[in-house]
Amino acid sequence: MKFVLPSSASDTALWAGSTCCSACRAGAIIALAFDLPLAVLLLRQGSPARAESTGRADGPARPNHLACDVGPQEPDWIPYADLLGRLLAELVSSAFPCPLPHLWHLPQGAPGIIVYSGDEDGAQVEWNRQHHDVGPHPDIRALDNAPVSARVEEMVRQIHQFQQQFGVRAHSLRNHCIAWAGYLEPVAAMATCGIGMEGNYFCSTFLRDRGYAPYAAFGAALPLRYCHPDGTMLPVRQQHTHTMDDVYFGPQSVSYSYGMSPELWDTVLARVLDDVVQRFHVPHATCIHPSNWVKFSRLQGLSLVRQGIERSLPVWSFDQWLAFLEQRETWRCESLHWDGDRLLVDFTGNSG
Ligand SMILES: [Zn+2]
Repeated sequence: MKFVLPSSASDTALWAGSTCCSACRAGAIIALAFDLPLAVLLLRQGSPARAESTGRADGPARPNHLACDVGPQEPDWIPYADLLGRLLAELVSSAFPCPLPHLWHLPQGAPGIIVYSGDEDGAQVEWNRQHHDVGPHPDIRALDNAPVSARVEEMVRQIHQFQQQFGVRAHSLRNHCIAWAGYLEPVAAMATCGIGMEGNYFCSTFLRDRGYAPYAAFGAALPLRYCHPDGTMLPVRQQHTHTMDDVYFGPQSVSYSYGMSPELWDTVLARVLDDVVQRFHVPHATCIHPSNWVKFSRLQGLSLVRQGIERSLPVWSFDQWLAFLEQRETWRCESLHWDGDRLLVDFTGNSG
């Protein structure tokens, strides 16, 4: 890919008052020998070549099966897709002759954030509404081997049913058993329902391999809008989920569980959150099922909150996180003036 700076007449006017050289005013071309945005897209969303059309023989289709094979030495302890995306931002910044303002991407300048959620299949919605943000938890398992379109239609039906039954607008969701259908068909349907964020992509080699690491399979933590490989953006943010209690802490009766004890999780989580705070500044998204909290994940769930607060991390719901991101996206840099010594910048946007 390539891009040119500056690219318009107004950009040129912007540079007229600066002290940069004539070469800078004429623009710069940065050429990469590979398609960086497509690489980030495929690492985060998986490959459309791995999508199924009528389910899978050994269980529900899940996003985990879409993950690209990046080899046995994949650096699962670093959010490699996010860092590859950052490379683009740093290349652009390096081409500017003046300091380039960056808006911090997390609330109140926090070093990271824990995005807390819990799927629930049996509890009373009315009770939960008094204490939590609630959203639909579509169950399309009855159609595991049906065509993609049938599974997506059922998901949409349940989203509408949820909204009508409880009078609540659905902002974010996760499917029961993180069941998926095809590639981006579920995302396009979520967009028509007004869903702004989903958490079905579990960063794990869950049911493919047994290794634990927070950024396995997809290498991503930051929320990003879905995108078709042809470049068409979708208005649904993909927020990867990193910790799921039944997978990591489930008792022996849960065949796929990694069986981490509270003591082991305390140590592992300390490393994960230290990396978030000191190196990566990304969200750590969790799914602690309320019914599992009662049965076996209370200590680990409390550890997530306690260790987060110890590191000054906000602990927010998916809906709160989405609301922040929507507000932040309204902010624009309206003008930029560099007098060779000081940079003057105007920003406008919604409050909050
Ligand atoms: Zn469920």
